[in-house]
Amino acid sequence: MDLYKFLPKTNCKKCNPKTCMAFALALLQGKVKIEDCPPLLEPKYKKQFDTLKEMIGSEEGQEKELQINVDTDLCDGCGICVTVCPVNARYCPPTLSGKVPAYPPDKHQLFQVKKGKCELLNLEHCRRIETEGRERECRVCETYCPREAIKIEYV
Ligand code: SF4
Ligand code: SF4
Ligand code: SF4
Repeated sequence: MDLYKFLPKTNCKKCNPKTCMAFALALLQGKVKIEDCPPLLEPKYKKQFDTLKEMIGSEEGQEKELQINVDTDLCDGCGICVTVCPVNARYCPPTLSGKVPAYPPDKHQLFQVKKGKCELLNLEHCRRIETEGRERECRVCETYCPREAIKIEYV
């Protein structure tokens, strides 16, 4: 669900997260409501406001938890998620050059391929979860998986 593209994208700082990207993530997580973005209440953004309302529906403002699901029927074990996830790259430098990360995996590692299938390891280190007061609207794994096997969801 790409809420960001329906926000004003001006980073005007009038909402609590202060940037449109962070606001999109907070909307997904149910931490803010659409009305918490004052510019969206202006007539020129009415269409975007209505679209966002439709997209979020009755679940607006209900706090949700992150899930990253890997469909092992679709996954062919290519390892792209292992090399592109920024957390993997940070804590497992060999992945930056496309090499297999160390085994056993680093405690921060998010993905590994085992027996030809992707495994999600330490979701708590995903950049979408707040650490050191920051969280990010990261979607790299989902975007780069060529088999569309990874789905980021809030449930
Ligand atoms: S108030 Fe709205 S337009 Fe301004 S930064 Fe927040 S989300 Fe973006
Ligand atoms: S990028 Fe997709 S297909 Fe490749 S290993 Fe990861 S989940 Fe599987
Ligand atoms: S959302 Fe970003 S940090 Fe989280 S697992 Fe995917 S690529 Fe890694």
